[in-house]
Amino acid sequence: MKGVEHGPSRPSWDCRECGQPWPCGPARKQLADEMGIVQLAMYAWMNFDDAVADMPDMPVAEAYERFIAWARRPPSTPGTGAL
Ligand SMILES: [Zn+2]
Repeated sequence: MKGVEHGPSRPSWDCRECGQPWPCGPARKQLADEMGIVQLAMYAWMNFDDAVADMPDMPVAEAYERFIAWARRPPSTPGTGAL
């Protein structure tokens, strides 16, 4: 992904920039800034798919929260606080 410095280090899926579980705060903001809501949702699903393959022991609910739920309320979208 062009321009995204906070990218995942696979197969651990920790951020290779700050070491937090990816997508970390800066990565989320950067991706949300770069993509539209639909593109972001598709990207989130792709990551979910890859991450579940890399980390088969991860609970699905946890993976969903981490990789998909955030993209439904991207940090840079104004006015969605009540969603
Ligand atoms: Zn990071």
